[in-house]
Amino acid sequence: MCVPFYKHQLGPVEQQAIFESLNNEILTSGSICKDVENQLAEYFSVKHVKLVNSWTNGAIATLLALGIKPGDEVIVPSMTFIATANVVELVGAKPIFCDVNPDTLLMTYEDFKHLITPNTKAIMLVHLYGQMCDTKAIKDALGDLNIRLIEDSAHSFESEFNGTKPGTYSDAAIFSFYATKNVTTGEGGAIITNHGDLYQRILQTVLHGMSAGAAQRYELGKYKHWEMERLGTKANLPDILASLLPSQILKIDEKLKIRNELSEKYDFAFQNELIRRPQLVNNCKTAHHLYPLWVNPKFRDEVIYELGVNKIGVTVNFRPVHQMKYYRDKYNHKDELFPVATSWGAGVLCLPLFPGLTSDQQEYVIKTFKEKILPKFSNGASR
Ligand SMILES: *Cc1c(COP(=O)(O)O)cnc(C)c1O
Repeated sequence: MCVPFYKHQLGPVEQQAIFESLNNEILTSGSICKDVENQLAEYFSVKHVKLVNSWTNGAIATLLALGIKPGDEVIVPSMTFIATANVVELVGAKPIFCDVNPDTLLMTYEDFKHLITPNTKAIMLVHLYGQMCDTKAIKDALGDLNIRLIEDSAHSFESEFNGTKPGTYSDAAIFSFYATKNVTTGEGGAIITNHGDLYQRILQTVLHGMSAGAAQRYELGKYKHWEMERLGTKANLPDILASLLPSQILKIDEKLKIRNELSEKYDFAFQNELIRRPQLVNNCKTAHHLYPLWVNPKFRDEVIYELGVNKIGVTVNFRPVHQMKYYRDKYNHKDELFPVATSWGAGVLCLPLFPGLTSDQQEYVIKTFKEKILPKFSNGASR
């Protein structure tokens, strides 16, 4: 048997939607994007949504719109995907890495309060694996400090904390529709915000800093001059890709239910003292984006190899960002400052989890892990 790490479930409905999108005169961001933005605004109960061509470009556009610049500092967790820190570097600011809570792997105010300086302009909260940081508690703790909150919601499309979704307490939340994410357009993403002035600036920073998009420039057949009011990137999503979203948003609860059931089945199977999992957060509805496990770092790479030999897809989400060569060369951070990210990153691996995973496939993953892998390191592995 062969079990891929991820397999998308787009089918005839999405094929038809793409096909129809080609009937529009303008293939880039137009009426389809507008409709999906309205659909997402309703889904998240936020005022403004801007579809973008990746989380990364959306985050760059957001940082530019917030005026983050060289000399500024942005706090990011080390336990995340590199993009979270990279976007800070790309606008010339400095990422300040923090550690995460040892039980949940999520950032709390306690994890970064000692890192706040007069140069701190923003904090990137990462809702890792689909569980959410307590954004409201962090916002309250920051009080009237002039520090912006951005939610990296690449894993948390369906998530809620105390019944509130991403975007409720932050300046902006950013989603990814990358090929393996819960909602996908191959490449894509969305920025959501309740702040009208920030949204107006984002409309420019996603489009070179221009004052009007292509569709508007040609409205009514009359050409209008545009101005470049600030520096921007190119981050807008084309209608062709946006056409893949409406059907996925309609089916989201049904798919999440399956992710939930698959995760519970893994949880039940892996009740073993040699395996650690992130603790479930009270009052948090998780999007179950990934299924991470932690094994003794001595054995992690052997486990990955063994899963590969048995044709089971596996990924490491994530090795800590502060340890990446680029960041080591530039900042030379010591592992001792990030004990949780360092230890978790050395032992973590993620198993296949997607709504199309069949029960036969999941049984095979569990059986392989329990019968071929666990016995190999049952001696000597420890927390
Ligand atoms: C996937 C991911 C990103 C980057 O998303 P792209 O759409 O590929 O730019 C950022 N942060 C986290 C936590 C991710 O998992």
